Amino acid sequence: MAAIELTGLTKVYPGGVKALDSLDLVIPDGEFFALLGPSGCGKTTLLRTIAGLETATDGSIVIGDRDVTGVQPGARDVAMVFQDYALFPHMDVTDNIAYPLRIKKVGKAARADKAREVGERLGLAHLMDRRPGQLSGGQQQRVALARVMATQAQAFLFDEPLSNLDARLRLEARTFLKKLQRELGVTTVFVTHDQAEALAMADRMAVMENGLIRQIGTPAEVFQRPANTFVAGFIGSTPMNLLDGVVRGERLEVAGCKLPVPASAEGRLSDGEKIVYGVRPEYMTYSVEPVEGAFGGKVSIVENLGAAHLVTLEVGGVIVQVVVPEGSEPALGAEGFAVPRGDRALIYRDGDVV
Ligand code: ATP
Repeated sequence: MAAIELTGLTKVYPGGVKALDSLDLVIPDGEFFALLGPSGCGKTTLLRTIAGLETATDGSIVIGDRDVTGVQPGARDVAMVFQDYALFPHMDVTDNIAYPLRIKKVGKAARADKAREVGERLGLAHLMDRRPGQLSGGQQQRVALARVMATQAQAFLFDEPLSNLDARLRLEARTFLKKLQRELGVTTVFVTHDQAEALAMADRMAVMENGLIRQIGTPAEVFQRPANTFVAGFIGSTPMNLLDGVVRGERLEVAGCKLPVPASAEGRLSDGEKIVYGVRPEYMTYSVEPVEGAFGGKVSIVENLGAAHLVTLEVGGVIVQVVVPEGSEPALGAEGFAVPRGDRALIYRDGDVV
C-alpha cells in the first residue's frame, strides 16, 4: 500500500492534444479517490499514465517512496481494472485470477491456492471452473476484481469498472467494492463519469475539465460548495441554479428579484459588482404565498423525480428550478415562489466561489 503523488504531470498526445495540463495531486495511502469529469477531460489518460501505459510528457509520479515516472508498467506495482474487464475467454476463472501470478513466475500450486482464497472472498468459489462466457456481467466483474486482488499491488486503478453492469447490479457492486477497498486498505483511483457513483464511493474526489483539476475535496465539499461555476454546473443530479445578478447595497438583484446576501458571502461583496448566484434546486422551498427574498414566477414545467418533483419557474425571463416534495407540487401555470436557503446559496465572482 502506498500514497500516490503527481507533480506537474503533463501528457501531450502526438498531434498536440494536451490531455493532462501540469497536474499536482497527492492521494494518501489507503484512500479511495474518484476522478470525475465530462467525456474527454483526461480521466483515462491520467489513470493510464499512473499505470505506465502512457508516457508522461512532463512531471513526475511517485508511488510510495519510489519515483516510477520512467518505470515500465509491469514494475510499477499497480493493478488496473478496465471497463471491459479484459478477461481471457479461453481460461477458466482460476486461471484468469492467477494470470498475473503466472507472469510473476509464481508456482502452479501457490497460484491455485491464491486464486481459490481470493475467489472465495469474492463469492466466486462455485464458479472457479467456468470460463468468462459462462458468467453474468456481475460475476465477470468480480473475476476482474479478484485478479487485481491476487496481485497484491500497492495501488488499484479502476477505469469505469461498473459501467457494463445493469442498474441494480451496479448498485450492489458499488457497495461491495467500497467495502472490499476498506477491508484491504489499498490506495485506489477510480475513474467514472457517473457522479452518483463518485459521491457515494469516494473518500475524496477530483473534478476535471480539459486536462485540469477544477476541484479536489470530499464528496460533501464538492457537492455543497463547488469551487467554481464549472463544478457547480457539473455536479448534482439536477444542475445548480446559476443566475446572473448585481450587488445593490445590502441586497442582491437577481432575475428581477431582491435577495439577501447568502451567509457565505456576507461582508465580501462590493456595491454594484456583478455576481452569479448559485443555489441547488434541493436547497430551496416552494411557497404559494409571496415571500421576501424569494424568486417569484410562473410554473412552466413540473417533472416527476419519484419521491419529489422538479418545478421550473419562469422568473423575469430566466429559469429557476426548485425541488418540491411529492404531494405539494403546483399546477402548470400557477404563480409561485422559490425560497433559497441562505446558508446553502453561494456567490460566484469571475467564475470562482466567493
Ligand atoms: P471519456 O470519459 O470519454 O472516457 P476521458 O475523460 O477519459 O474521456 P481521455 O480518454 O483521457 O478522456 O482523453 C483526453 C483527451 O485526449 C481527449 O481530447 C482525447 O480525444 C485525447 N486522446 C485520448 N487518447 C488519445 C490518443 N491515443 N491520441 C491522441 N489523442 C488522444
